[in-house]
Amino acid sequence: MAVIDTGGSLRGGEALLAAVRARTSKPIRYVINTHGHPDHVFGNGAFVAEGTSFVGHSKLPQALATRGPYYLDNFRRIMGSDLIDPVKIVPPTLLVTDTLTLDLGSRRLALRAWSPGHSDSDLTVFDETTKTLFAGDLVFLRHVPVMDGSIRGWLGTLKELESIPAQRVVPGHGPVSEWPGALANERRYLMALLADVRASNKKGEPIRTVADKAAASERPHWELFDDYNARNATAAFSEIEWE
Ligand SMILES: [Zn+2]
Repeated sequence: MAVIDTGGSLRGGEALLAAVRARTSKPIRYVINTHGHPDHVFGNGAFVAEGTSFVGHSKLPQALATRGPYYLDNFRRIMGSDLIDPVKIVPPTLLVTDTLTLDLGSRRLALRAWSPGHSDSDLTVFDETTKTLFAGDLVFLRHVPVMDGSIRGWLGTLKELESIPAQRVVPGHGPVSEWPGALANERRYLMALLADVRASNKKGEPIRTVADKAAASERPHWELFDDYNARNATAAFSEIEWE
């Protein structure tokens, strides 16, 4: 069997492992990380065992090497030493540059590595048997999308993602939802953000103004909007500034 993402602490990973073990004693052959953000990889340590391979985007080892220490410091500040000190960064050793199929016997998982979008190491997992897409943070529902890769890349990825013949999606944040309808709100948000940032750039507005007002029309539709939108706008602005 395979586990997809492991949570934001070793304890979270252990709880996930216990939940798995309450249902099955099958060996865990693969732990797949959909990208390198701490809330998806910090539980990896709980799954280190003989015969378990860690799987990720070919860019993920480098991303974790570069940003892992910063993530640890940051999460330690937010969540406390008790929870974060036991965390070990466990990078993938089975790497995906394009596509890879994992055969689990009764189930085939189609993995696909994407160019920068939500992050620089986005990987999706499509369970062909149940037609379930595990989208990682390429799909946000309710929680405002967080952009740490490329806004143009992300919008391009959504176009291709949409053609995956899934019936439902497990998003990185938010509830399991029908596919591809689940993409609509996120696409609208990203398009509004990109359009507003481009308009501000054309008018020569300073970055602070951009951060304040880009995608403001989207505020009512999202949780945690004020925690992330300004940062998204700033990142999008840096990306398109010299278009
Ligand atoms: Zn993420």
